[in-house]
Amino acid sequence: MESEKRESLNFIEQMIENDLKSGKHQAIQTRFPPEPNGYLHIGHAKSIHLNFGLAQKFNGKCNLRFDDTNPEKEETEYVESIKSNVKWLGFDWDGEYYASDYFPQLYDFAKKLINKGKAYVDDLSQEEFNEIKGTPTQPGKESPYRSRTAEENLKLFEEMRDGKYQNGQKVLRAKIDMSSPNMHMRDPILYRIKHVDHHRTGSDWCIYPTYDFAHGQSDSIENVTHSLCTLEFEVHRPLYEWLIKELEIFPSKQTEFARLNLSYTIVSKRKLLELVEGKFVSGWDDPRMPTISGIRRRGFTPESIKKFAKSIGVARRDGITDVALLEHAVREDLNKKTNRVFGILDPVKLVITNWPEYKEETLTAINNPEDESAGTRDMMFGREVYIDRGDFLENPPSPKKWYRLGPDREVRLKYAYIIKCTGFDKDENGEISTIYAEYDPETRSGQDTSGKKVKGTLGWVSVKHAVNTEIRLYDRLFQTENLNEIEDDFKNHLNPDSLEINTKAVLEGSLKDAQVGDQVQFERVGYFRVDEDTTEDNLVFNRTITLRDNWAKKQGK
Ligand code: ATP
Ligand code: MG
Repeated sequence: MESEKRESLNFIEQMIENDLKSGKHQAIQTRFPPEPNGYLHIGHAKSIHLNFGLAQKFNGKCNLRFDDTNPEKEETEYVESIKSNVKWLGFDWDGEYYASDYFPQLYDFAKKLINKGKAYVDDLSQEEFNEIKGTPTQPGKESPYRSRTAEENLKLFEEMRDGKYQNGQKVLRAKIDMSSPNMHMRDPILYRIKHVDHHRTGSDWCIYPTYDFAHGQSDSIENVTHSLCTLEFEVHRPLYEWLIKELEIFPSKQTEFARLNLSYTIVSKRKLLELVEGKFVSGWDDPRMPTISGIRRRGFTPESIKKFAKSIGVARRDGITDVALLEHAVREDLNKKTNRVFGILDPVKLVITNWPEYKEETLTAINNPEDESAGTRDMMFGREVYIDRGDFLENPPSPKKWYRLGPDREVRLKYAYIIKCTGFDKDENGEISTIYAEYDPETRSGQDTSGKKVKGTLGWVSVKHAVNTEIRLYDRLFQTENLNEIEDDFKNHLNPDSLEINTKAVLEGSLKDAQVGDQVQFERVGYFRVDEDTTEDNLVFNRTITLRDNWAKKQGK
């Protein structure tokens, strides 16, 4: 507890603590404001943990607000997925709001600005305006429509709303400063005409507020005290503040933090949509996708994401985070939580020739050495078992270098007996088809009286009780570390080996009733989760992550 108290606050927490101490706010209100134009990704998880986490830490509130002001790209499916993702991450929002609910109020705000002489209807096309807009080092010129009277503007604005004009024919602009060094202050657009139905308001509106006009005003309507957004919005802040001042509404305060960039990972809804639409993945919830739905299906846990979010912290400078940190958090969490079972990805049959044909013995296996309360399970052992092909070498190097099986070598079959290899058969392709061995009855695990010592212990699966399965071996979706620095199409950097389907694997009998969502560790192999595609006849496992980081090895780390 002491150490937690002394944990240093990040710059946002520091600011909030000061605001509460000084009495500026009695309580804080934050919000998570996704646009429902795609599925949430791991970058959003950072923002979710930040906004909801601050509300929890300082006894405040956090709203979920859908920033739904671009009707062409938004869908109800996305709203539903976002809500379920936030819940899965472990958070519950105080208010559920939609910027579209504020359309009438935003319309009134716009009229207020017009009446104050702070907004005008502009007939210039986008291209025409770009020509007079100037550059960051050169002041712009004023639109010839800038001096319209408030009455005229009001009339035109109402006509815009009433559908009298075509898309792009007119816009409503804030009247600020055409020579501001900040381009966002050069008479930014507040409303544009879009004859498009909206997923919530249908055909009620044909004018829609821009991000800049909807976002800050929605914050104010909800009395958001601390409006946190990513650094690219820093240049929008003067406009955010100008609008609040001119409208004389609740002074929400915008503060920016660095967005999450992750190595080997794309965190942009637009690009993720491209992967979905181009069928490079099976959907938004493809287990290789960095979406919350994807990583959940893959087997990442809310706790591991929380741990990851905590470990990366909150900073004011953009950088790139190593995806190995996220993977590490997942391994640590699953190591504590999952039961160990035997799953053999590349099985070869081993026959124990001195074991009676029909005899079976019940052995006791430990479910999770990290968690005693997970208990033990029974495992049936008999004359024929599968071991992994990789655990046998026809011509092994010296026993010092090879602890596993080979002709005349001894190993222990975990929880069972020490066996000695006596021979093997090959098939017509020259592949080992059957291995033969003899067991030593004196060496049963827990009751070993032989005094024998062997270094190698192998996993195995009883042939009689083996469960067939389809295992989807996932790897990183991209093979390039920093996808922010590439100049060509990001899709050129897809990892061609990001999915391998294994249908020859066999699993121990205890997995025959595995249910969707169950998570286990296949001993010495990795962490796996039962996939939603599982049917009565086909048990499908996703590999969540290997036991060790194979990429670090590839890179010589
Ligand atoms: P994308 O570029 O993927 O579409 P976005 O910023 O457009 O992301 P929004 O739905 O507008 O997505 O974002 C909702 C909230 O999540 C915003 O406050 C945004 O700043 C935050 N957010 C989005 N991406 C990241 C990220 N990579 N790291 C941290 N926060 C993010
Ligand atoms: Mg966006």
